[in-house]
Amino acid sequence: MISPETIAAIRDRVEIVAIVSETVKLTRKGRSYVGLCPFHKEKTPSFNVNAERGFFYCFGCKEKGTAFDFVMKAEGLTFPEAARRLAEHAGITIEETATAVERREAEAAKRAIDDLYAVNQLAAHWFERQLREHPAAKIGWAELARRGLSASGQEGSGDGVRADDALQAFRLGYAPPGWDGLTQFLVQQGVSPVTATKIGLIAPRKSGPGSYDWFRHRLMFAIIDTQGRVVGFSGRVLPDPETGVVDKQSPKYINSPESPIYQKGQTLFGLYQARHAIRQQGEAVMVEGNFDVVSLHARGITNVVAPLGTAFTAAQAKLVRRYAPVVTLLFDGDAAGKKATREARETCRAGGLVAKVAVLPGAKDPDDFVREHGAAALTSALRAAKGILEHLIEAILDEGFVRGDVHERAARVREVVQLIASEEDPTVRAMVLSYADGIAQRVGLPGAASFRLLREAVARSLADASQRSPRDRQSEGAAADAAVPTSSHLSGAERDATPGSGPANDIAPWRARSRDRRVEIGHAMLGCVLDFPDLLNDVDADEALRELEGDAALAVAALAAQQKKGQKAGQKFGPDILEVLAQLPMPIHTFAAQRMAAPVHELREDAKRELFSNALKLKRLGLSRQKAHVVEALHRVERTGDSAAEDTLLREWNRRAREKHGLKEG
Ligand SMILES: [Zn+2]
Repeated sequence: MISPETIAAIRDRVEIVAIVSETVKLTRKGRSYVGLCPFHKEKTPSFNVNAERGFFYCFGCKEKGTAFDFVMKAEGLTFPEAARRLAEHAGITIEETATAVERREAEAAKRAIDDLYAVNQLAAHWFERQLREHPAAKIGWAELARRGLSASGQEGSGDGVRADDALQAFRLGYAPPGWDGLTQFLVQQGVSPVTATKIGLIAPRKSGPGSYDWFRHRLMFAIIDTQGRVVGFSGRVLPDPETGVVDKQSPKYINSPESPIYQKGQTLFGLYQARHAIRQQGEAVMVEGNFDVVSLHARGITNVVAPLGTAFTAAQAKLVRRYAPVVTLLFDGDAAGKKATREARETCRAGGLVAKVAVLPGAKDPDDFVREHGAAALTSALRAAKGILEHLIEAILDEGFVRGDVHERAARVREVVQLIASEEDPTVRAMVLSYADGIAQRVGLPGAASFRLLREAVARSLADASQRSPRDRQSEGAAADAAVPTSSHLSGAERDATPGSGPANDIAPWRARSRDRRVEIGHAMLGCVLDFPDLLNDVDADEALRELEGDAALAVAALAAQQKKGQKAGQKFGPDILEVLAQLPMPIHTFAAQRMAAPVHELREDAKRELFSNALKLKRLGLSRQKAHVVEALHRVERTGDSAAEDTLLREWNRRAREKHGLKEG
């Protein structure tokens, strides 16, 4: 554990501009620096770095954070890794919270782990050399040629894509058929059999002493972690050297067992090679197999990764999320691939990833498809990817739906209702519902122009059917479920999706305008405080800030609270700028992040002046809002002829007018 004092020292001493400048060319602009964003593709700079705050923000992709976040995102490091990296940069010696004994133990453990990486590295080299030199490796080359991948100096590899770079990047190798080739090599290198066994390269013989190779006559893919270290191997079955036939009994892939350096559910095949492309494109492509990854990579589609012989896990989703917010699932078109797609929805949600689904016509796997149709066709299939909910709804309301009987239709409609209701974000829900409407029109039930009508049509025909066969009580229940939305969320989404009926439309236009204006002014005032947080300690400014309402008022209160906390800890603005941001109301986040990275006012007086003039505007808007209420009330009493009430209102009106006048003088 790095001590909290060390972390605090790093926060204090590290200069974010220096850190960012290592990867981004920055130029000064006002109080901040700007450059081309390293997290998305752009031609004009929208990446802002604020040296005073130690904060960065991109107006394009909205990435933001401290020097820690920058290093973590740009280099895919964990927090402790980023801390070590920054400490080195700032010349800070890392203090660990540990006793001398604990430290010695930790060092010994680290050495043991380093040994495991070193042995895997030796093995990777050996497998690579076998692919080049071993006579039986020609069967491996033939398999690569069958996949349309060729390398220079390999005869018989035909007219495939020149894949030297990809084969090297993925460290393709060959495990020869003998029993102890690798075992002997490792012994020669002075590697202890215990260590090699621990990472599953060799296994002790069951009869008698000695060990044997775990991978035999297989095409070898190195599994590489995000720091470029070989953590394991994945070996693909090859046709028998004698018979030329693939042994059906033998598993298609054998992977390294889990070890202290390899957990399959937390590792993604190809992530190391794909990480820059994933960050640049803001998106990863997830395929099922190792060969898909290598094959797409060799053809220039380089943001591709695959889970390692397991279902896609939440830990893997989080790993992708370190590099990009979006993943496109490109699973095989078979039943297993469809099931994996359905299950990935929850996985992506848990990992904070937006999931899309791309479909390859003809139910092919990506490797088959790209060989047959080329990279451009695959790229356009990726571009046509739909949101995962939309994809799943379309899969339910497909031709099978049209062909199905009324009970099957009811079950499928209910499935769609549940899918839509399970979406938490109301905006997404509304979008998905209107998408379901589109599909409902297409599926071709008479009169089903929207999903609601489709549901009704199905419920009606089910009711007809059950009248004909009244014993079918259970399906009636299903029909009822299908006919009424299963949650209040859904009905909310439906209402929102219909223009002109939402609650926002109850507000008169002038009120909406005045409200927008007040929000805008509130933001401007909040911006002044973000530019100069010490305005919160200014008595006059404090008075002006009392005019704020809504989210801006909440934000100022939260900032003041954070500032108090920060002052106690001897810091200017709370312990961590992201923590400060997290305290602000959601609708303000983007505005506040932008303003913290790129302040508008250079001088405190300017900020203060804008604060006051805006407070005055808010006060006036508040008065005219009251005036409008009074006028409305006057109209009402005029109609009823209540002169006493009219008199009271007029007097109230005058009092407010005087207050407004006094305000103008003040
Ligand atoms: Zn950006």
